[in-house]
Order: sequence, then structure tokens, then C-alpha cells
Amino acid sequence: MTLSEYQATWKKRPEKHAALPTDLKKHVLRTPQVRVQVEDDRTGMDTETLKRAFLDNLYYIQAKDLQNATPYDLYMALSWTVRDRLLQRWIHTQETYLKQDVRSVCYFSAEYLPGRQLGNALVNVGLYEPARTFLRELGFELVDLMEQENEPGLGNGGLGRLAACFMDSLATLGVPAIGYGIRYEFGIFAQTIQGGWQFEQPDRWLRYGNPWEIPRPEYLVEVKFGGHTEAYTDPQGRYRVSWVHERSVLGTPYDTPVPGYRTNTVNTLRLWSARATEDFDFQVFNSGDFARAVAGKTYSENITKVLYPNDNTYQGKELRLEQQYFFVSCSLQDILRRYWDHHVDLDSFTDKVTIQINDTHPAIGIAELMRLLVDEYLIEWDRAWQITQKVFAYTNHTLLSEALERWPVSLFGRLLPRHLEIIYEINERFLHLARSRFGNDEARIARLSLIQEGSEKYVRMANLACVGSHAINGVAKLHTELLEQDVLADFYALTPEKFSNKTNGVTPRRFVLLSNPKLALLYTERLGQEWIRDLALLRKLEDHLHDADFRASWKQIKADNKHDLAEYILHFNGIEVAPDSLFDIQVKRVHEYKRQLLMLLYVITLYHRLKQNPAMALQPRTFIFAGKAAPGYTMAKLIIKCIHSVAAIINADPDVGGRLKVVFLANFNVSLAQRIYPAADLSEQISTAGKEASGTGNMKFAMGGALTIGTLDGANIEIREQVGPENFFLFGLTAQQVYALKARGYHPNDYYQTNTELRSVIDLVASGHFSPGRPDLFRPLVDALMARDEYLLFADYQVYLDCQQQVDAAFADSERWTTMSILNAVRMGYFSSDRSMGEYCRDIWKTGPVAVELNG
Ligand SMILES: *Cc1c(COP(=O)(O)O)cnc(C)c1O
Repeated sequence: MTLSEYQATWKKRPEKHAALPTDLKKHVLRTPQVRVQVEDDRTGMDTETLKRAFLDNLYYIQAKDLQNATPYDLYMALSWTVRDRLLQRWIHTQETYLKQDVRSVCYFSAEYLPGRQLGNALVNVGLYEPARTFLRELGFELVDLMEQENEPGLGNGGLGRLAACFMDSLATLGVPAIGYGIRYEFGIFAQTIQGGWQFEQPDRWLRYGNPWEIPRPEYLVEVKFGGHTEAYTDPQGRYRVSWVHERSVLGTPYDTPVPGYRTNTVNTLRLWSARATEDFDFQVFNSGDFARAVAGKTYSENITKVLYPNDNTYQGKELRLEQQYFFVSCSLQDILRRYWDHHVDLDSFTDKVTIQINDTHPAIGIAELMRLLVDEYLIEWDRAWQITQKVFAYTNHTLLSEALERWPVSLFGRLLPRHLEIIYEINERFLHLARSRFGNDEARIARLSLIQEGSEKYVRMANLACVGSHAINGVAKLHTELLEQDVLADFYALTPEKFSNKTNGVTPRRFVLLSNPKLALLYTERLGQEWIRDLALLRKLEDHLHDADFRASWKQIKADNKHDLAEYILHFNGIEVAPDSLFDIQVKRVHEYKRQLLMLLYVITLYHRLKQNPAMALQPRTFIFAGKAAPGYTMAKLIIKCIHSVAAIINADPDVGGRLKVVFLANFNVSLAQRIYPAADLSEQISTAGKEASGTGNMKFAMGGALTIGTLDGANIEIREQVGPENFFLFGLTAQQVYALKARGYHPNDYYQTNTELRSVIDLVASGHFSPGRPDLFRPLVDALMARDEYLLFADYQVYLDCQQQVDAAFADSERWTTMSILNAVRMGYFSSDRSMGEYCRDIWKTGPVAVELNG
């Protein structure tokens, strides 16, 4: 950059703050470096100090004493107490990052599903036991307080939960990172069940206050929408474009600490909340039309109002694109603001910043960074593009074509006219390059194009993400292979060096230590505590495989966990289940490709067999389902209803004699997941091969000692490799076989005609046996299977039954089952998200840990 170019950027920068209200400009003035010495005992860790702080917080913040405090007040007071003890580390961490001008991982995700914070914070700062002790002295149980917390349901399922696991692992590894996302006022709906049907209730998680977030209005940013662009030539004779926007919205960041496990590192989750630029229109207000005066305000604030409740399906709603652009623009401006605080040019930008986009939801960031660099910082296109590609990396999360995001060009241009121009420019240059490689293979060029042509044109976000990133990854081995061979094959042919696999993982802190404390204690007794940071160490426990004490403890822990879940089921469903029956569990979003219905067909098959032959040998089973359906997904909702209807008939049938029970647990979320996974004997991971990108529920189950019955899909394949094929119940078509079968013509009716048991089961459903008085209720399910059976339930039905027969036999031999259970759990080290994050750091982000000293 020449001096005059640099000066031009310098002149440009102060304007970025000009948009801020004057009272908020203060923060840009550097404050003197004075640290007020905080008295030690204000953040002391002994039980007496904790107790006093707890009572103080209850009194001075919640304005209550023990006599009139609600349970929620107590939860709040305890949370403040813990938070106070995180702050010192948080502040030190951020100061360390600032001083050392570290390279930061910026994780962009439209969803985070972190689960409840209190227990995790207590465990990570080492205050769980002290808190339990002093609360007992006051007559309270810690777990009761933890139950008060409304979990932040800012995600739909696996993708949001993955983001939360990654944030936990980065902090535990000590890697400088910041998670950027959206502070939805209403998270994923609460599911209730009425008459067997799903009903959705708004998730008012912020209603009673959220002690974990800190608003940072001083870092407010402005985001523009709409309008048009104007080209002009600047005084230096350069072609430039200005975006004459129509309206703008302000973004306020809310920061939540992300504490690492027993480290000084506390990273930040920064979520953006939208608010109007003007509180209301004074002119209209003064004319007396109050409602119209605040209309614009309401409109702006709608942007972060609610999470779209679709999982693995794309919904082309304008407000959704506004959400995506809003949080991405806020985040990029925030990154640049922080960067400019310590740099005078962009030369080291790519050394200091790397951005991972979690699926294509934040892919608009590629066009936005180009806009910021080219239009606002006057960087020439080629250099801006180099920077952008070097900064961004893209994680693909789906193979389902219905989940690939594509925005109508008309909508896109209306909302983001300048970004559309930039995307067209990127596309022109990119296709030029592609043609130089592939000649005029126009079919291929059309597939590569960022724009899908046709009567309605679309912007393809996955293509934008691929072109604008230096790294592209899938989330399990098979998934990455399928991306390379199929979904993104043309991009792979062009730039194979961008592609790599990063198999997902989950955090052992939440999914072993917190959710399965007895198992954690057993591990610690045998291994010490190191396994919590290095889950691969669990393999050492194979030495104890034949140790009678160890095995007895193992069985007792599973029995206790099952007993706890049985109590929960009795309390919430009024159904009595036998804790020693086989707990056969499928919990995840309800989606046809995940095939909850296949498991239900098995349930009905057993029921049918028992009715035919009441004397048959069968290990008693409790079938447990849980999961939300997208509110507009009629089939998924009907599947939930069908589970309930089948449950009602089976649970009440004296012929079954309690040997089968069917339970649906309402409102599956992280808190419920933490109860369910540790209590499972059998984990159902039965998606149609080639449809599930990875799955992480499969990992959480196996970490708790559940055996898996599963297809060769997603990470199931790698789980089977790790635990050993002899410890995994495999069935079903492979992805290749699925494609081949579909290619030569799949006829579900053939299976119906030739498999008498399948025919009886389908006929039973079709006859209305499970829907007394409404014989046609489940007709749509039957019709979908008979007509198309898109997800090949019939093709896999018989092998699934056969495999379940092996499960039955294995469970009958409790010693054999225990051995398999132990081997599953202790061989899961590979699926710690610490391992995943290590690989991203090494291969994609080129970054690593930074030590944080508390007395620095
Ligand atoms: C782990 C998890 C998921 C993902 O489950 P899959 O079985 O991988 O689909 C979804 N929701 C919650 C609450 C989870 O904890």
C-alpha cells in the first residue's frame, strides 16, 4: 500500500465511529492502564467465602433474603457467585490476548446449543464440591438450583451443539478463540405433547434474567440493509461504488464467558442482539400516531427475535437472510475494530484472524468482508480477495439437497444490492478461472457457478463458501468422501488441496464428567483426573476389563443411571418402566432420514410377535424416543403422533405383560440429553446410509457405555472402527448400495409383497389398529412408504430385525454385554472434541494454545 492509499484508509476509519451515538464514543479513547486491586476474599474459593458471597448476591442483587427467595433467586445468586470467580480469569485472558496480539479463531455460527451454564462453570473452575457443601449447610441441594436454569436453546440440534462443544474444547486447550452468533430472544420452541401431538410453546429463556451474559453496548455496530448502489470515480481516479442503503439496524454484543476446564483461559461467546437506530420517529410520535411511531423499531428488533426451528432443511425466508447478514456484518466489523486498535495497516490481518463458518449460514461473510475491504478500506480487489480467501474456512454439514441454501437473486438484490454485485464479480472471475482449467465444459461451469440460472435465479451459498475459503471440510470420513465425489465434486476437481476431513467430537466435560458423575468418579479412581483433558487415556482401563470390582461398579453405575431415568419417566410420563429392561433409545431431531419410523416398525413387529406367540423368548425392552419436529414438517409431526399411539396401545395391553414399554419424552434439549445418554443400553443410529453427515448423539451414547445399533453412515463408521466391529451392531445398506438400488429402480412394494412380517406390520398400521376411531390417521405414513419409501425403510427392515435379534441375545448374556459396554466407552477417546479442535488448529487455522498467567 502506498502512503496516500494508507492515509485514505486512515481518513476512512473514524467515520465508522461517527454512526455511533455520542455517549458511546467514549470507549474509543484509550483509558489509562490502572488495575484496581480486587480484594482476595471477594473471589475466594473456600466454602465460607462462597457462602457469604452467595448470601450477599442474594441480598444485594436479587434483593431477597433466604426467607423469601424463590428457587430461581437462589440459582441467580449462586450464578453470580460463580461468575464473579470467572471474571478475573476472563479479564486476564483477554488482556493476555491483547498484549500478545495473538492469532484468534473466530467461529461463526448461526446456532449455539451450549446447555445449562451453572454446572459447567462450577466444574470448570473447580467449585462444584465447595458449592455443594455450603448449600447443604444452608439446607439446599445444588442440583435443585441447577435445575432452575433455563437452558439457552439457541440452536436446533447437532450443528449448534457442535459449536458449543468446540468452544468448550478451544478454551480447555487454551486456544484464543471467540464464538460469534445471534442472541435470539426466543430460542428453539418448547415442545409439549397434547393427545400425542406436538405443540410448540415460545421459549422465553430470558424472562427471569440471564446471569451469564454481559451486554457491551459500547461495542455497538451499525448494519445496513436495502437501497441501491452508485458507481463513481474518486479523486484519485479510481472506480468506486457506494451503497446507498435504505435502513439500518444496530447490533449490541452480549458476551458470555467460556471457561476452559481447570485452566486460566476463559474465551468469549459474543452474541448479537438487534435494536433500532432511533427509538421511534418523533415526528410521527408528535402527530399522535404512537403505534406507527414505534413500528420501525419493532421491525428492526425482529431480526434477532426468534430462531428458525428447521433442522437440515432450508427455508427461504427473507428474515432468515437478514439474521445471517446481521450477525456476520456485526462480527466482521467487530473483528476489524479490534484489529485496527493495534494495527495501522492490513498487512498482518490474515496472521491475526481466521474465520471458520459453521455451514453456509454465515457464508455471506465472504461478500461482506470483500465489501468492507474494497468499499470501506479502499483495498484493491485482488488483494482483498487474497485476504478474504486466506481468512475464511468452510465446514459443510449436510448431504441433503433440500438443506443447501440458495437465495432468490431478486430477494438477495433487494436486501443486499452491493453484496449481489460483489458476488457477480467474484463469480465472473471464478468462472473465468474454471474455464481456463476445464475448457468450455458448460455443464460443469453451470454447476460451479455461484448463480443457479433459470426462470428464477438463485445465489448458491455453498458455492460461495467453497470459492471464498481456503479450506473446506466435512465432519466425518464418509461425509467428506461423499462431498468430494458427489455434492462438491466439481470444486474438488478444481482445488483438491482445499479439502480435508475433520470428524466431529463432543466434550467429555459435559457429556461424561457433568452428566455421568458416577462413571467419571470410577474413571478418576482408576486413572486420576487426566482423562478429563485427554480422553484417549481411557483405553488404559482395558486392563481392568476382567477386574471383578471394576465390572461390578460398571454395572451398578449403569443400573443407577437407568433407575434415575426411570424415575424421570414415571414423574413426567406417568409410565412405569423396569430399570432392568433393555433401554433401547433413539433421541434426536425427528426427521424422515433419521428413520425413527424404522425403529417404530421394529416395536410394532415385536408387539405383533408377542400377540401371536405370548410365550416367545424376549429380553424385556423399554423403547425410548425423544426429539422435536420442525413445526412445518407434517410427516415428522405425524411420526411423533404415531409413536404415542403405538405406545398407548402397547403399554396398556395385558398380553404384552410389561415386556415392552414405549415412551416418548417431551422437549428433548441438552438438559434432557444429559439425563438420557448415560442411561442407555442401546443407541439407535439408523439413518439411511449417505444421509447423516456425522451425528454426535452416537458419540455421546457410546461415551456412556451404550452399544450402538447402526448403519454405515456418518461417524458410525469410525465409531465402529474404534470400538471394534465385534462391539457394534451393524446392519443395512451401504451408501454405495443405496445409490445403486435407487439407480436401478427401488420398489418398496416388492418388500411388502415378499416379507410377510413387514406386510402384517404395515397392514396393522394401515388398518387403524393404533388409531381407534380414526382408521386413516396414519395413512400418510403408510402411503409414503408404499409409494416411494424415499429413505429405504423397507429395504433395511429385515436386516434390522435380524440385527436386533443379535442385540437381544447379547443382552441376555449380561457379562458379555458388560464387556462390550466397557470397550465401547473406553475406546471413545478419538471422539473428544479436543481431538477435533486439535486437528482444526493444526491443519486449517495454523494456531495453538497461549498460556494465561493470573499474576501477569
Ligand atoms: C447431541 C445432540 C443432538 C444431535 O444428535 P444426533 O443424534 O447426532 O442427531 C441434538 N440435540 C441435542 C440436544 C443434542 O445434545
